[in-house]
Amino acid sequence: MNYKRFLFAILILLIIISGIYFIGRENPNNSVSSPEPSNNSEVTKSEGSEFLMDTLVRVRIHDENSEQVLDEVLNKLSYLEDIFSKTIEDSDINKINLNAGVKPVKVNEETYKLLEETNKFAKITDGVFDPTIGPLVSLWGIGTEDEQLPSEKKIKETIERVEYKKIEFQENNKIFLAEKDMSIDLGAIAKGYAADYVISYLNEKDVDSAFINMGGNVSVHRDKVDGSLWNIGIQDPVRNRGNIIAAVEGEDISVVTSGNYERFFIEDGVRYHHIINPETGYPARKGIISSTVISNNSSYADALSTSFYILGVEKSFEIAQEMEDVNIVLLTKDDKAYVSEELKGQITFTVDDLEIIYR
Ligand code: AMP
Ligand code: MG
Repeated sequence: MNYKRFLFAILILLIIISGIYFIGRENPNNSVSSPEPSNNSEVTKSEGSEFLMDTLVRVRIHDENSEQVLDEVLNKLSYLEDIFSKTIEDSDINKINLNAGVKPVKVNEETYKLLEETNKFAKITDGVFDPTIGPLVSLWGIGTEDEQLPSEKKIKETIERVEYKKIEFQENNKIFLAEKDMSIDLGAIAKGYAADYVISYLNEKDVDSAFINMGGNVSVHRDKVDGSLWNIGIQDPVRNRGNIIAAVEGEDISVVTSGNYERFFIEDGVRYHHIINPETGYPARKGIISSTVISNNSSYADALSTSFYILGVEKSFEIAQEMEDVNIVLLTKDDKAYVSEELKGQITFTVDDLEIIYR
């Protein structure tokens, strides 16, 4: 090798090493962009993460304008958090809650639409999904400093304040919560709605490809840049975070899981978690430990995965089978996985101690 060639080889090696360092760097609350090896040399990849909607949101965009698209996606998510949050003072939801039993509140179009959606799921599930679950969520305080096992009397009293039919939809985007001390909590659907909102923007902008992970709510836009399908993991509810029990293959899909491992406390050997059955006032206990819904529509996947967790295997399959594009994976305490027949060929289980039942 002559001297010039040797220098050239060293130079290439340095470029490769710095590239690997750049791509591999963890960079929370920030974004990283890099050129993309693909047929289209213009495509770049931009990745960013931010703590939004009570969870670490990770977004990966592949596009000619990946950086701008990423910025816009994070802006949109932060806008939705600002209007849907229960705790942000001048959010739509907080304003509705503060004015419960007092007066109607004019809200943003997105809030009105999302509340209409919640109404739909409350009807489908016979009120098991209930956006006015707020008073029960506060009473239990799961995941907060005030988490507690409340008295039965207190639970009974609080159930009375949970009733989705008491959300009044008025003209000009006005919402009225009919009784004092009621409150809305969108924790079971807001992330799904936000993912759909972002995906519709990505479609509008004709973005090449994208992956959005909102703390276990995963949505993918189109297929991967190399034309292959995405592989989305379903978390193992028993072993530590990061382990998966199965992978689902697809494009333009959303995979959303609700589980009892996300937020909970244990008292006298009983696990009290954050998914509450509004009929009993207690955390749901129908034998399910993780409920996953796979659908093109992330609002459906989010609202229904929470609902199916509460409803149990039989009722969940009854509902899912009547719906288009709603497929499920329900894991039960006795190590069984009940899986929609339609997922055969699309799902691969990565553990061998589960009995898999397609139906
Ligand atoms: P997810 O993680 O999507 O299953 O949603 C769980 C969150 O939804 C909880 O932390 C509560 O904020 C809220 N939630 C709990 N129980 C219900 C329910 N029965 N209907 C609607 N939202 C609920
Ligand atoms: Mg949900």
